[in-house]
Amino acid sequence: MLVSACLVGVECTYRGADETRDAVVDALAGCGVVAVCPEVEGGLGVPRPRAEVAGGDGAAVLDSVDGATVRTADGADVTAEYLAGARAALAAAEAAGARLAVLKARSPSCGCSGIYDGTHTKVLRPDGVGVTAALLARSGIRVVDENCDPAEILRLAHGRS
Ligand code: SF4
Repeated sequence: MLVSACLVGVECTYRGADETRDAVVDALAGCGVVAVCPEVEGGLGVPRPRAEVAGGDGAAVLDSVDGATVRTADGADVTAEYLAGARAALAAAEAAGARLAVLKARSPSCGCSGIYDGTHTKVLRPDGVGVTAALLARSGIRVVDENCDPAEILRLAHGRS
């Protein structure tokens, strides 16, 4: 399966930190896992400016819906890097034969159960998904976030959904 790299100890967040979730690490122990950070794969550095999806969510960005872009707080357009990272994550998932992705919540790349709304005011778009999460889901890969019950992650990982 695929996992957001920051959840398993990689210091790749925009702040240059990790977001290790012990429950996720424990649930994934013994499973075949490929850890990917789409934003790094897309060419962004660590640390990097925080960004949000504006004018829609990750699915709208994939569809090039008018106004749907990924932007930093000072307005820089980083949509191309986020799209490149999503494609790299999908390629890694497909190379590994992943059918499940366990992703960081609320990220403009990895979020799959709500993301920030693009105003950089900590307002959530509750049904929004990040660019990578949207592409993975659209490609037939089941996506769940770090808050998923570890027992459920194990069930899904072993094809018992
Ligand atoms: S949430 Fe996704 S894009 Fe952001 S640091 Fe973690 S792995 Fe990278």
